[in-house]
Amino acid sequence: MRIVVTGGAGFLGSHLSRWLLSGGHQVLCVDDLSTGRRDNLASLLDDPRFEFHQADVAAGPLPVRGRVDAVAHLASPASPPDYHRLPLETLAVGSRGTEHALQLSAQNDARFLLASTSEVYGDPEVHPQVEDYWGNVNPVGPRSVYDEAKRYAEAVTMAYARQVGVDVGIVRIFNTYGPGMRAEDGRVVTSFITQALNGDPLTIYGDGSQTRSFCYVDDLVRGLVAMLETSVTGPVNLGNPVERTVLELARIVCDVTGSRSPIEFHPLPEDDPTRRRPDISRAERLLGWRPEVSDSEGLRRTVEWFRSQPAEVAAAAAAVAGTQYQGRAHGAATSLAGR
Ligand code: UDP
Repeated sequence: MRIVVTGGAGFLGSHLSRWLLSGGHQVLCVDDLSTGRRDNLASLLDDPRFEFHQADVAAGPLPVRGRVDAVAHLASPASPPDYHRLPLETLAVGSRGTEHALQLSAQNDARFLLASTSEVYGDPEVHPQVEDYWGNVNPVGPRSVYDEAKRYAEAVTMAYARQVGVDVGIVRIFNTYGPGMRAEDGRVVTSFITQALNGDPLTIYGDGSQTRSFCYVDDLVRGLVAMLETSVTGPVNLGNPVERTVLELARIVCDVTGSRSPIEFHPLPEDDPTRRRPDISRAERLLGWRPEVSDSEGLRRTVEWFRSQPAEVAAAAAAVAGTQYQGRAHGAATSLAGR
């Protein structure tokens, strides 16, 4: 198949592209490199079945030629510091970008896969999150540029399915991590790993009691591919149902890295969801999918990869310190070494 991957130079997009190429498909990557990286494509650019188009999918029709069999729409900033830095771009790619990608699917009668997010549930009142839960999002809060863009993306995807007859699939992706993330992207896994490797304090926002469920990237990509290969509409949650507090994650990262970094507490960002865990029974039933990699094993592989990027890890220390956003005041940190 000829498959378009928007955001193909990003963390998830480049893993998906690699997986699709290894399955014998052609991949047409469209990415404006605003948060994606050419480095992520290093092993792909030599493959004659891989095409890279540097373009912003929000700006106009996608610049690909010829027949297309599927479109996987992953383009979007995804880390909170990134979408706080790029609020209008995030709204544009979730709205106009999604429409352009859907138009390409409609013209080609191609399956359309939308990478949506657990953020559509906002700060959830239902736990674990089932797909039938409609969410609790603050439409004017700092996270709304991402959350509402993805909610709109789901709505426009369903409208193309109902009105135009496009074969669509929506996945809601929960926190995912692995090799290929940007060391300085500001997300909790990358921040903790780079801080631990640099011997810097691990910065916990709030008291660390908030929870997330972390999925290793290979598991997640298997889920995306399964969704591409069916005609399931969804939405379908994709994530690892093993739930951890942020404090627990900090301890696991210290264990895996052997770091003696202290833990430091900072104010919690505004609207930071208090808990998050996917109910994956729909994915199990409809796709036969469930994660297989434990978080200690996934973190071990991720740490090993970051150890192979020492310059980037060292440079991340300064960059991560600059990724503060609403509610996170530097001076208010309290250090609880050894806690
Ligand atoms: N977080 C933290 N320290 C950091 C970065 C993030 O304690 O250096 C917290 C953040 O406040 C949130 C959780 O870790 O509660 C996950 O944050 P992330 O940015 O990775 O993704 P989110 O799930 O919030 O989109």
